[in-house]
Amino acid sequence: MKRQSISLTLTISFGFLLCVLLGLGWLGLSRMGHINADLEDLVTKRWAKVQLCRAALGYSNLNSRITMEIFLLDNSDQIPSLLKSRAENTDEISALVRRIEELGVEPGKERGLLDAIVAARTPYIASYLQALHLLIDDHKYTPARAAMVEQTLPLLIRYHDAWNRFVEFQGEQMDEAAADSRSHYARAHRMVLSLLILAAGLCGAVGFHVTRRMTKEIVRREKAEEEVGSLNAELEQKVTRRTQELAVANTELKEEIAQRKQTQDSLVVAKEAAEEADRCKSVFLANMSHEIRTPMNGILGMTELVLETELNPEQREYLTLAKSSADSLLTILNDILDYSKIAAGKMDIDAIDFNLRDSLGDTMKTLGLRASQKGIELASDIHADVPDALVGDPGRLRQIVINLASNALKFTERGKVILSVEVKSRTKKDVELHFILSDTGIGIPADKQSQIFEAFKQADGSMTRKYGGTGLGLAICSELVELMGGRIWVESELGKGSHFQFTVRMLIQNNHVPKLAQTVETV
Ligand code: ADP
Repeated sequence: MKRQSISLTLTISFGFLLCVLLGLGWLGLSRMGHINADLEDLVTKRWAKVQLCRAALGYSNLNSRITMEIFLLDNSDQIPSLLKSRAENTDEISALVRRIEELGVEPGKERGLLDAIVAARTPYIASYLQALHLLIDDHKYTPARAAMVEQTLPLLIRYHDAWNRFVEFQGEQMDEAAADSRSHYARAHRMVLSLLILAAGLCGAVGFHVTRRMTKEIVRREKAEEEVGSLNAELEQKVTRRTQELAVANTELKEEIAQRKQTQDSLVVAKEAAEEADRCKSVFLANMSHEIRTPMNGILGMTELVLETELNPEQREYLTLAKSSADSLLTILNDILDYSKIAAGKMDIDAIDFNLRDSLGDTMKTLGLRASQKGIELASDIHADVPDALVGDPGRLRQIVINLASNALKFTERGKVILSVEVKSRTKKDVELHFILSDTGIGIPADKQSQIFEAFKQADGSMTRKYGGTGLGLAICSELVELMGGRIWVESELGKGSHFQFTVRMLIQNNHVPKLAQTVETV
């Protein structure tokens, strides 16, 4: 790009200078040629006039000689032929004057001088014609000679002077023109010379400027090329280094991928083994719980039968304790059985028609005795818009409610435990119910509120000693709620109580007629 612009500048500059030089040369030469041509023209014309003047003077001199011959002749027979040639000469002179006129006469001095010739010629001719008349016609030789000497000769001298002045004038004019031409020529020469010097100077300046720019540009280009070269070398080095690094990284990556794949394969194997072990454990747990539950029910049944017989107070107390322990053990077994069923993916949720209010009423009643033993108010509040005839698993719903209500009663010393049920959302076919179990118990620290839904997790380890429990209840509730299309969470304040809440989605029975009255029951 830069190179193109420099060559363009050079071409334009030198082209321009060449044009200027050629133009000036042509101008100067043509001017000088004009001067020469003008001078030549002028000199040619003037010289022609001088020649004509000389010819005229020559004819005039011839006539003067003829006149003298006539005067000196003894034989008058020769006079007519002499007069004839004299007349011819006179005509020649008139023709020469006309030719001078034709060559062009400048107004002013030249015109005056030519007019003066014509003016001097007329009296001269008249005078010598008169003298010749006296001589030839009147034969008066003496008066004729006197007339010739006294009148004609002075007029002839005047006439010739006029011609000489005209010739002199032409000479002067030629000299003047030559001098003018010389000075013009010298001026034109000077002008051309100075213009040429100026153009040469201009040419030098442009050349210097362009050469300087070119030199600078070349230096800059060389430097840039050097820089590019060093950058290229650096880049090549970097690329080589980077390629090596990449090759190393690639090898490492391949090794790592191979390792990871190996690890992943081992992990898959380990996971499968762990899952298999877990499944075996759950199956074993479920089987064991089931197997233990049968004899436990036998123990409980027999204990109850014995308690119905007559016993002394000490025996009754021991047997009552034994029954309570058996009850607890059965609860634990039931929990473990449920949990292992869930872990093994074998927990199923029924879909049977049931009446919500009746089911919840019965459930709350089973808890009534414990509540009244602790002096705690137990109540349920089922909102009027909650549909009654539902399709679902009343047993599992009951299990969740009993679990949450039992916990509430367990961790509450005074106050109340209330179950409320409301509609969260509903369609024509199904309803999402929102259950809240509120108590005025010990509450749960904020940092433990999410943990307690995990298996075997309790808010406070020391609670196990005071209140017992396995930490499985909420985990089971959480799984059951999820299987029923809902979720479970708690809002609680330490020392003030807790609000355990869950949602479940259940189908509404087809022939369901909504109950309008709100059910508030105190158990
Ligand atoms: P657990 O058999 O120990 O009661 P859960 O899973 O039912 O097992 O409960 C887990 C823990 O959650 C309890 O040990 C207790 O620390 C806490 N918890 C549950 N319900 C309540 C409640 N209503 N008030 C205070 N703490 C509670």
